[in-house]
Amino acid sequence: MQARDATAALSARGVHAVAMTWVDNAGITRVKTVPVDRLPEVVATGVGMSPVFDVFLVDDSVTTSRLIGGPVGDLRLHPDLERLTVLAAQPGWAWAPVERWTQENEPYQPCQRRFARAMVERAAAAGLTLRMAFEVEWFIGADDSEPRPACEGPAYGMIRVVELSAYADDLLGALAAQGVAVEQFHPEYSPGQFELSVAATDPVGAADLNVLVRQTIRAVAARHGLRVSFAPVVTAWQVGNGSHLHFSVRDAQGNLFAGGPGPHGLTERGESALAAVLARLPALCAIGAPSVASYLRLVPQHWAGAYQCWGHENREAALRFVTGVAGTGDRTANAEIKACDGAANPYLMVGAVCAVVVDSVDAGLRLPPEVTVDPATLDPGEQPPRLPTTLTEAIDRLAADSGLRAALGDALFEAFLAVRRGEVALFADSKPEEIVAATRWRY
Ligand code: GLU
Ligand code: MG
Repeated sequence: MQARDATAALSARGVHAVAMTWVDNAGITRVKTVPVDRLPEVVATGVGMSPVFDVFLVDDSVTTSRLIGGPVGDLRLHPDLERLTVLAAQPGWAWAPVERWTQENEPYQPCQRRFARAMVERAAAAGLTLRMAFEVEWFIGADDSEPRPACEGPAYGMIRVVELSAYADDLLGALAAQGVAVEQFHPEYSPGQFELSVAATDPVGAADLNVLVRQTIRAVAARHGLRVSFAPVVTAWQVGNGSHLHFSVRDAQGNLFAGGPGPHGLTERGESALAAVLARLPALCAIGAPSVASYLRLVPQHWAGAYQCWGHENREAALRFVTGVAGTGDRTANAEIKACDGAANPYLMVGAVCAVVVDSVDAGLRLPPEVTVDPATLDPGEQPPRLPTTLTEAIDRLAADSGLRAALGDALFEAFLAVRRGEVALFADSKPEEIVAATRWRY
């Protein structure tokens, strides 16, 4: 019934087809589309897609893993009608994220969105509600094989907004038409770079929104003859594109990150959760900064959060604690994971953070001392540890994290690691410029 109503409503709005997306272990958004008339049938029985995409790499080559790989088998893609959105910048199109099911009508365990939803349910069962939002950074350039910025104005400069005024207007209009609550939009540091932030929502919603916002940014750019990149690095050695993840945690008493006796108002449970996230950031890097190119971004003094430390409003700390305007803490206090970029699968990232938080709120962990300066300016002996400096290091940390293995399940965990290892091998002999060139237009 719901699908038939949705189909009628979409047709009345001139929609001809529905794009149904999911994000694979390489961080690439893959898609199947159906004519709008087929939606009721698709909601009932799904659309076929091979499980082999779980072992695709960023260049579309295919690896394999113990439990997933090879050309045999099929899955069913089931769109989530709650998120069905008419795409303002793609006339005739609507979009919905999918979850993957087996042909026996069971949820497919290695489905990344199912994993995220399961972790949210695990949090709810423990009396916890997480709210999250991804920031989106991107490069916009002329439709060219080389990264030629579409604007010349300075970092954070009004000139860029004037140069790309029509694009920005269309973008904000499209997002508003799609019901996306934009918080702010601004030119960023690197040439041709912009950033957009959206309001926090539930974790699966934040991941869905990340897909929708990126797709909209790209579609509006295409209508202006421009090309966008969310890749970790667009030009070697320059500041890259982050995809920082903000999160807060509430229990029955309120926000765990405000109104407590700990540093900057942290409650004991809030501090324990943050301490765990900080301690496990090297493993989380394999999920949040999963590309070989990610480690060209994750360097000191790029505001990318290269050090394993935390600090109140410290933009060089991998975990930046944000309290907001005085007096608004219960509503606004949150933590930002900076070691997350545009190559990350947002569903894996939100699910992994939920898992770490749920496992640790009651572990009584304490944060190390706060870092209140740029860690790179400290004497070497006083510097906090660097986060992994290579993907291999991050993979090794994740491979050793039994909590995340248990949360993800063997099939997803091993397929994800196989893809990460495959990409290490893919770029084993590549120079930074070659890695950047090969990944620039893939995300
Ligand atoms: N572009 C920076 C990064 O790669 C982030 C800049 C900012 O703090 O917004 O993470
Ligand atoms: Mg930014």
